[in-house]
Amino acid sequence: MPNTLDALRSRPDWRIFLLLPLLHFASVKLTFSTALSPENEVVMWLPNAVLLAALLHYCGERAITLALLALGSDVLANLPVFPPLQAVLLSLCNLAEVTVTYLLMRRLGASPGLERIGDFGRFLLAGPLLGALGCALLASAVLLFTRENVSANYSTLVLLWWFGDALGLLIWTPLLLALLQPERDPPLLGWRDTAVFAFTGLLAGTIFLQEHAADPDTRLALTPHLLLLPVLYIAARCGRRLTALTVAMIALTAAWSQTTGFRPFGDATPHEMILRAQEYILTLSIIGMGLVIMLGEQRALAHELEDKVNERTRALEASNRRLAELSATDSLTGVANRRCFDTTLALEWARARRNGEPLALCMLDVDLFKDYNDHYGHQAGDDCLRQVAEVIGLHVRRSTDLVARYGGEEFAFISPGVNEAHALATALSVCEALRARAQPHQRSPFAVLTASIGVAVIVPGEDDTPDALVRRADAALYEAKRRGRNQVVLAGAPKQSVA
Ligand code: GH3
Ligand code: MG
Ligand code: MG
Repeated sequence: MPNTLDALRSRPDWRIFLLLPLLHFASVKLTFSTALSPENEVVMWLPNAVLLAALLHYCGERAITLALLALGSDVLANLPVFPPLQAVLLSLCNLAEVTVTYLLMRRLGASPGLERIGDFGRFLLAGPLLGALGCALLASAVLLFTRENVSANYSTLVLLWWFGDALGLLIWTPLLLALLQPERDPPLLGWRDTAVFAFTGLLAGTIFLQEHAADPDTRLALTPHLLLLPVLYIAARCGRRLTALTVAMIALTAAWSQTTGFRPFGDATPHEMILRAQEYILTLSIIGMGLVIMLGEQRALAHELEDKVNERTRALEASNRRLAELSATDSLTGVANRRCFDTTLALEWARARRNGEPLALCMLDVDLFKDYNDHYGHQAGDDCLRQVAEVIGLHVRRSTDLVARYGGEEFAFISPGVNEAHALATALSVCEALRARAQPHQRSPFAVLTASIGVAVIVPGEDDTPDALVRRADAALYEAKRRGRNQVVLAGAPKQSVA
């Protein structure tokens, strides 16, 4: 079932060409069996809505084929009731009604789904009000000119035809459209809703069958307007499809009850009773469908707003993350910046002190970098700094480690939970790897780019501060420079070198 519906939703093909005349013909039969009075007056004429719903749903695509199919079915339905010429002319009037309604709705800018209250209003104006009236004027003239035994006068014919066609469009079009379109917010029905449907059926049965009791004293005297209450509930809770279906079922039952002599609208002349039934169906459908469309539109607006807020929130979160990244990153080398280094060192210091664990800090300074800049230029110097950052990153890789640019051509890396031997080994591997890159440096005694590293490891005590660790690593670095560069010195240890 969903697959068939999905296929019907996309574009009119042979399935819809087959379904349209069938549905049209079924609507004719439904109209004749439920809404035709003994005086041959129609309370509501449903079939025109079939073509209108198809034109709206498919936005006028394959309109001529759809119109010809509906016209053919209409003529076939009219032939048993009217002479051939009259049958064709009346069917052409129906076609004109649907065409005018569709074109007017497009002209008025109504979106075809009838999902907004403004579009429903435009539909009411274009279809039930103007399209049906135009058709009534034409069809009544056809009836008067081509049929001898027409008893009613022109204005009565116009009114009857107008109201009948208007109600048919009003009841059937929203229902067919609701069935063809996916429900945006499918309702979650509970036992209360099921109970309301059962109650509505019971109440409708009671109301529309009540005139069966011949004795006026035993009548229940419930008016059909009571059904507005469950319809309002259904419109508020159960979505467009079920509301349109409920309204259509009540309208058909009311028309059937009226035309089979139950007299749910009281005793009056046949004309008056039909008029009362039509007024009732008009009120019921406009209130029921108006409410469900209005609530649906509000829900859609609320969803739209929610989506927008979510989208903005996501964008804001992303830009906040980006901002946080930027404010923690050194733009030249892509490693952490000095601010990030300071906060991380303070955090790791506190953690190491809490856990009684060692914290290692290595300070790296590129050797004779001023000379490098002077000789190769500042941009080549920038490239070297990127390379140094990359080399450090390749060797300092634990998830808890942090590599940062400390300032100028100095880098620092923090390794929590690491002892002296491990820290020294890491520093040595960095120093060696940089030298092994063999980046030419003509003004260096090593002929390639090198760096010196000072290593300090502390298990933070009560009186120590992070500054003490930095000072010790810095002093070791100074010692490495003093001893001739391109080497690693561990604070408080004899000389270590990479050579
Ligand atoms: P030493 O071996 O004693 O450290 O000698 P050095 O020349 O490396 O030390 P010095 O402190 O005299 O020079 C550091 C140089 O680093 C000076 C400066 O031009 C350069 N420098 C600092 N930041 C940058 C940078 O972002 N890009 C470039 N290209 N050079 C930088
Ligand atoms: Mg320096
Ligand atoms: Mg230097």
